Amino acid sequence: MILPIRLFGDPVLRTRTIKVGDVTDEVEALIGNMLDTMRNAAGIGLAAPQVGRTDRIFVIDIGPLLEDLPERERQNVPPQPMVFLNAEIISESEAEEEFEEGCLSIPDIRESVIRPEEIRIEYQNRNMEAQSLRIGGFLSRVIQHEYDHLNGMLFTDHISAFRRNLLRRRLREIARGEVEAAYPIQVAHALK
Ligand code: ZN
Repeated sequence: MILPIRLFGDPVLRTRTIKVGDVTDEVEALIGNMLDTMRNAAGIGLAAPQVGRTDRIFVIDIGPLLEDLPERERQNVPPQPMVFLNAEIISESEAEEEFEEGCLSIPDIRESVIRPEEIRIEYQNRNMEAQSLRIGGFLSRVIQHEYDHLNGMLFTDHISAFRRNLLRRRLREIARGEVEAAYPIQVAHALK
C-alpha cells in the first residue's frame, strides 16, 4: 500500500524514533508499505517518520542506480532492497565527502552536504537478525541520510546558514503544501 509522504515542517519529521521490539504483523506490513511508497516515489530510501510513524526503521533500494557505481564500489553493496531496524552508526571515518542530496519530504530541493565518507552501522534486518556493515561511497551516503531521519534530522540541517537562508521561502511553501510532487503527499494538520 502506498502511503502519503510527510513534508518538511511536519512535526513527525522532528521526532526521535522508538526501537522496534519485534517484527509483528503490523511492523511487517509497515515495512512492505514503506517499500511500496519508496518505489512509487522513485526514491532510493525512506524512513518511518516520512510516512508519519515513529518506529526506528528505514528502507533503502539503490538497485536502480547500481550500474552507475564504479565496479569496485558495486561489489561491496549487499543485495537490494535493504531493511534497517534499530540502526546505530557506531563509527564514522574522519575523511569527509561532499555530495548533492535530495529528500522525498523536501521535493524539488537539492543541496550539497558534507558527511563522513565511511561508516560502520549495526542494525537488525527484516528477520530481526543482527547485522554489521562497514560501507563507504554512495550507499554510505544514502544510509547516513536515512539514519538522520530516525533522529529527527533533515539534510537541510547540514547546510550552511547562508544556503538555508536562501531556501527559507521555498521551505515555508513546502511546509504549507505549496509544492508539486509526483507522489501522494500529506501536509501536517497543524500547518493547514
Ligand atoms: Zn530524506
